[in-house]
Amino acid sequence: MSGSDATASLADGDVRREASATVRASLAQVIEVSFARCNRVVMCLALLLAVGLMVVVVWAELVYSAHEEDYCDEPLAEMLRLIFLIIIIQSLQKTIMRHCLCYDMAQDGPVEPCRVKLFRCLSLLAALVWPLVAGWMLMNSHDCSRQLQLAVAVIIGYYVTLVAVVIILPFLFISVMLCLIRRGVLALPRMPGAAPEGSLDQLPVIAFEPARFNDEPSGLPSCCAVCLDPFNQQKEIVQTPCGHVFHKRCLGGWMQVACTCPLCRSDVTGNA
Ligand SMILES: [Zn+2]
Ligand SMILES: [Zn+2]
Repeated sequence: MSGSDATASLADGDVRREASATVRASLAQVIEVSFARCNRVVMCLALLLAVGLMVVVVWAELVYSAHEEDYCDEPLAEMLRLIFLIIIIQSLQKTIMRHCLCYDMAQDGPVEPCRVKLFRCLSLLAALVWPLVAGWMLMNSHDCSRQLQLAVAVIIGYYVTLVAVVIILPFLFISVMLCLIRRGVLALPRMPGAAPEGSLDQLPVIAFEPARFNDEPSGLPSCCAVCLDPFNQQKEIVQTPCGHVFHKRCLGGWMQVACTCPLCRSDVTGNA
């Protein structure tokens, strides 16, 4: 392969990765909108867990008051005091920024001064590191009161559940949906912004010719940007007015939710 060929294929790879990222972002956006109700259920669950966490923390504070003098080979009582402080700081972040750090976004604009950024970073870091340190101490404590151990274990359990509900579950949900939609297993529900019925059939069908689907600037891409599978004779290919090509079935699924090209967002129904 000559130097210029290598550069060209590198650039093609970049273009394909960019196209795939664009489609992924657009699909994820569509899925989020389609399943907004599901999202609301997750948010309600997260809110319930947050309220539950407050109850647990108050209980842990009572355990701390009753058992702070108990002998313990790890500072579990201090960890309980620390999580209480971390949660208070997290919940009063805006007030602390306004009164202690003299920063009010409404008056001073969205650009945060260094002291505010530092405060945010440190309070986030403290919240993230606490369960790790507490878990490590819990594993290494052999001679602590049962109540102290139980209080720390319950808070760590709560932390893990919160992270799963707020971050891991939505991420898995979107990824699985994305995969099913790309594979054609699942059709997106018809959305208000969908292309009019029959517009897919008005797009020209392009015959597959290996020489044309070569990823060259003058040719066509070798893969469909929606499902990422290479084009071949088996699946019908259509071309949008903007010149982009997709599997007919893939674009059909897409047009259930939008009338714009998944890649360049121009109108695929031919209207400007
Ligand atoms: Zn496809
Ligand atoms: Zn396009």
